[in-house]
Amino acid sequence: MTARISSASPAALVDFQWWRMADGRWIGPRSQRLLAGHPADDGYQPLKREPALFRKFADVRDTEDAFVEFAMRYGDLESGGVVVVDDHLATGKEMATDDPFLVYSEGRSFEIWRGHRRMLAFALRLWDAINEGRADELIGAELLVKPYDSLVEPGKPVPKYMVWTRTASAQRDLGLTASQTSNAEFEPAVPLMRASLPEAAARAALAYLVSEMCASVRVVMRVTSAQPDGLRLTFEVRSLIAAMWLQFALAVDGQREYRPCPVCGDWWDATEARSDRKTCSDRCRKRMHRQTASGGSGV
Ligand SMILES: [Zn+2]
Repeated sequence: MTARISSASPAALVDFQWWRMADGRWIGPRSQRLLAGHPADDGYQPLKREPALFRKFADVRDTEDAFVEFAMRYGDLESGGVVVVDDHLATGKEMATDDPFLVYSEGRSFEIWRGHRRMLAFALRLWDAINEGRADELIGAELLVKPYDSLVEPGKPVPKYMVWTRTASAQRDLGLTASQTSNAEFEPAVPLMRASLPEAAARAALAYLVSEMCASVRVVMRVTSAQPDGLRLTFEVRSLIAAMWLQFALAVDGQREYRPCPVCGDWWDATEARSDRKTCSDRCRKRMHRQTASGGSGV
């Protein structure tokens, strides 16, 4: 018997509170616009309330309006950021003042929002393609497999191939790559020791991306003694973007399945649901039933 960490629902393992954004808006001139706001008064538990928040974020359109809407509904991606006063970047004088009535908020750029969304959406496309048995469609479009041409440390085996991921623009948005000026679309990601099927390349790329991004946004492993059954491995996150990557990593590990609700449009966790269940909740099920019964074409 093996007890996997994800045998419990991913959300049950992590205690993470976050704050929706209040007064969220874009400020500043075209070239350096920031989505700024401050945390709303009441916190909420995103991982418990939103079982597939990573999917919702990945589905957001790359527009200023769509990012504001997401921030107002679920919160900023991280705390901190560039300090803003009213409708401009805080000046040195404003930063130094002790005026208690000066209203500060914090913001981050469109590129950061877009970069995070693109990275998550890319990883999700890999995962969906693997799960749906169409990993071969990724090759050439989202992934390249090229001969390995980098140096290898002496004494280490030489890989045969390198998997390249179409993540260069997201990496540039996030400032994770040195080559700001490069317009290449693909980035070298993970070496393969031998030729293999597209699915193996896709799995390797997905494993690499999830590991790298979880480390980059600081998903931290914790051992907790607070459980009645002894010491348990769990995780700690301190930002919404880290929570979404953790949620996705646990979904990948637990092979969780999500379905879109035909009534309200929300993604719901269908891992333990019957295969014929379609809606996210009893409420939506009843609504669909009423619409069908009354002959409406509502869905
Ligand atoms: Zn629903």
